Amino acid sequence: MLHATIRNRVRDVLMDIGFKQYFHKNRHGANMLLLHGIDDCGSTAYNSRFISSTRFDALLTYFKQHFHIATLQDFCLGNYPKNKQTITLTFDDGLSNNYYKALPLLEKHQVPASFFITGIRQHQQYYLWTDFIDLFLHNRNNIVLQGIRYSKNKKGVFASDNGTALKDFLKAQPFTVINAAIQELTENYAFDINQFATDYFLQMTEAEIQQLASHPLATIGSHGMHHTDLTKIALWDAEHQLTASKAFLEQVTGKTIDAFAFPFDVCNAELVDMARRAGYTYILPHSVQQHTDRPLQRFGINPYISFNNQLHFIYKGNYA
Ligand SMILES: [Zn+2]
Repeated sequence: MLHATIRNRVRDVLMDIGFKQYFHKNRHGANMLLLHGIDDCGSTAYNSRFISSTRFDALLTYFKQHFHIATLQDFCLGNYPKNKQTITLTFDDGLSNNYYKALPLLEKHQVPASFFITGIRQHQQYYLWTDFIDLFLHNRNNIVLQGIRYSKNKKGVFASDNGTALKDFLKAQPFTVINAAIQELTENYAFDINQFATDYFLQMTEAEIQQLASHPLATIGSHGMHHTDLTKIALWDAEHQLTASKAFLEQVTGKTIDAFAFPFDVCNAELVDMARRAGYTYILPHSVQQHTDRPLQRFGINPYISFNNQLHFIYKGNYA
């Protein structure tokens, strides 16, 4: 870990003093980039899923100059030059800041992106349970939920005494169980989610989803109905996640929804077939594999590293 930190710092300095060409020469991989939130400061206080609008702006400037930026469809079909570094941009979780902060910058640089949104708004909820948990756990070391004690472990993750991470438990549950957990935590700990700045959890409204969908640079895809792990829930529930979210987003946008990003980027062959039968053509992360030698995961943009190192790892294709 320490060595990696030193290596990153050395690379940073070398790139700053003019060795950027050396690091970037003859690179021509393909990466599907994964982003979540864009905020004012790139806060990592609640989670690691936000970068600042300044960083996003700088990345887009660089991408536009040096990369080929493909649409989701062209990327999945392999329609891009193989002699140039190629990326496509994907945003997960349907955060409102995607509309207010990301879209204007995409427009400024004329860069296409796809947005994977859940069906949570159909339940009149304005946040995802995963964001609720991150916000709720902020500044806490122990909680009791459904009679089980969860404590912050060495990795900063909330886990029960037998080692089950709270989020891993919840993402394998039907939505009724997740909802009951949220209600219990809200009541027992007098937690008010409204105290948090809107950038950090608000979901796009149906009107915002509709406007985003009508923008020529944006593609809307589904991210499941309830943001659960389809490989862990019952098959009937997985099918519901695929079909109900598609129906909801098609009703909101008036467009055919043919892209699906599995929550947490996990899927298996049976679920990919199920997604195809549900009417999806572009199925992530499965479709990423078709035309690249990348593993079955998208490449997450990292708020903890410098701009130069972020570029280095995008070229490299992994953080190892
Ligand atoms: Zn997600």
